[in-house]
Amino acid sequence: QSQFRSLAQQTPDALLGLIRLFQEDHRPHKIDLGVGIFRDDQGLTPVLGAVKAAERILVEQQDSKSYLGPVGDSGFVDLTARLALGDDLATSPFLVRLQTPGGNGALRLAFELLAEASKDAVVWVGSPTWVNHFPLIASAGLESRSHRFYDPATLRIDFDGMMADLGSAKSGDVILLHGCCHNPSGATFSSSEWTELLALCQRQGLLPLIDFAYHGLGDGLEADAAPVRMFVENLPEAIVAYSCDKNFGMYRDRVGSLFVKATTHAETDAVRSQLFGTARAMWSMPPDHGAATCRIILSSPELRSVWQEELASMRERINGLRKAVANSLPQLSAVANQRGLFSLLPVSKDAVQLLREERAIYMAPDGRINIAGLSEANMPHFVQSISGYLS
Ligand code: PMP
Repeated sequence: QSQFRSLAQQTPDALLGLIRLFQEDHRPHKIDLGVGIFRDDQGLTPVLGAVKAAERILVEQQDSKSYLGPVGDSGFVDLTARLALGDDLATSPFLVRLQTPGGNGALRLAFELLAEASKDAVVWVGSPTWVNHFPLIASAGLESRSHRFYDPATLRIDFDGMMADLGSAKSGDVILLHGCCHNPSGATFSSSEWTELLALCQRQGLLPLIDFAYHGLGDGLEADAAPVRMFVENLPEAIVAYSCDKNFGMYRDRVGSLFVKATTHAETDAVRSQLFGTARAMWSMPPDHGAATCRIILSSPELRSVWQEELASMRERINGLRKAVANSLPQLSAVANQRGLFSLLPVSKDAVQLLREERAIYMAPDGRINIAGLSEANMPHFVQSISGYLS
């Protein structure tokens, strides 16, 4: 009698299916705008120079691979906390900090903590949001509820709708915010909207969980961190799930950290012990290689400046492509003001399929495109193909 008989087939991940279709497509003008990774003008995702240099140092200097303990690489955790939150907030005695397997691990751990603290907390998520947020929330046993966020008719945030929907959030509920570079829409809050959101959290007693997975890829390290710091500074409790997988190009090395701000020494200690216990039961200890590499970069003035230049050139490439799209397609002028890898094109599901079959342009079924998949060479084919399908 098979134990696995009762298992149902899960719906396959649409983007993974797209990768296979793209590989099997032999048309020379094909364009991959599907999976969310940075690409250079040649369509490649090379290892950053700062990362290569730091990895060489790591190989030379690492004298043991014995366990590091539940915090992970504490130098890495300290440096990423300072990078994300600034020195003062990063070193507060009320901030719990630990390394996680990527931003995904940080999010999962955060949801587990929230579920343990309050089973009935609702997690409010904007519509749309990164698709993996839903299984992460559900796996921790929490309920998610959607609020208005992105208006496909204007390609902008429906801020009034969002505030109206969040009016029914109750004290103790969680609001999941993207720190910058919203996935999938690229839509960004203005600084006055961030301030209004902070006031909403204060007024209604909402706990923000900020998914900060693209630090530095929007408007720069300082500008992208400003709203995150404002939330952590001005609220009694806040959570930041941080990823180095995009801004260091370390995707498969799974580099992230989780920061949780609590209010009292006793609660800080309780949060820490909960997080350590939960992490122990999920992955025991985080993977070291990527975090040690980031630590070497961030603690060396030379490598840090090489990395910052490489990060700036990734960001400038993305923002340059955004301007080029907006200039070529007036219907997409909003794309220039969006940030990060993604935009949602106003195209129907049928159009997404036709663009793939007839024009060899690959994008997610919801019309999400990875801006960095565009290049000087493929831009004319993209612009010409897409203009007929925009709704
Ligand atoms: N949050 C968002 C919004 C993301 O887009 C991603 C990666 N696609 C993550 C978190 C997870 O990042 P990581 O690869 O570090 O787990």
